[in-house]
Amino acid sequence: MTDTKVFLLDGGSLVLDGFHIWWNKGPGGEVRFPVYSILIEHAEGRFLIDTGYDFDHVQKVLPFEKPQQTQQQTIPGALKLLGLEPKDIDVVFNSHFHFDHVGGNKFFPDAKKICHKAEIEQAANPQPFEVLGYSDMSFSAEAAAARGMADQLTAGQTDANSRFDVVEGDVELAKGVKLIFTPGHAIGNYSLLVDLPNRAPILFTIDAAYTKKSLELGVQAGFHIDPIAGVQSMQRLRGIADETGAELMFSHDAESFKDYRTGVNYYG
Ligand SMILES: [Zn+2]
Repeated sequence: MTDTKVFLLDGGSLVLDGFHIWWNKGPGGEVRFPVYSILIEHAEGRFLIDTGYDFDHVQKVLPFEKPQQTQQQTIPGALKLLGLEPKDIDVVFNSHFHFDHVGGNKFFPDAKKICHKAEIEQAANPQPFEVLGYSDMSFSAEAAAARGMADQLTAGQTDANSRFDVVEGDVELAKGVKLIFTPGHAIGNYSLLVDLPNRAPILFTIDAAYTKKSLELGVQAGFHIDPIAGVQSMQRLRGIADETGAELMFSHDAESFKDYRTGVNYYG
């Protein structure tokens, strides 16, 4: 029996304007923010939640986001810091399919992959205002084919080894690892609540709230498909944090991220 441990895999950083991070609130101006993935070591296996962004993809398609990523901040590099390789991961769960959450999926042909039932269809047929968010289709041969972007797939990626099991609503991914359905930012967006043996649970907002300020003010990011659902999802997260005593952790908050444990330092 392994005690549950949570590792944050630092995936580098990107830049957006403050008005995109805090929609219609700001302040504007360039804001550099972190991107990270979450590795859960659990008695039922190793679960990876999201896989960061692919540096070359961002340079090519979204260079204005000014990616900064070292070798150790790629998914294989971050796993190597922990003495792991991609083949050691049993399950990859994607909170949604925006490019900064799926860039490393290509390294996991053998892992079981899971997402919300509406996300592949949305990535395959995004709204016009979602096209840049859903710009890296290398996570799914099916979505890449639908978008005419099969050139993004790497050799060895097939329909069969990039196929997803789908879920909906709140789901227990493993004992004490709960996916909390928080739509708004994306049609199938999930947050994550993890129970830990020696401390309070952690509630990862993922992109339902980029930053602490986002959740406090109820201000979501400019990237969303349903802003009213987004506000309701934030209210729900605040309620869950109050009920469970969970510590909130935010997906893209430079200020908070400074105090988060990364690399070999974990939460357990
Ligand atoms: Zn997103």
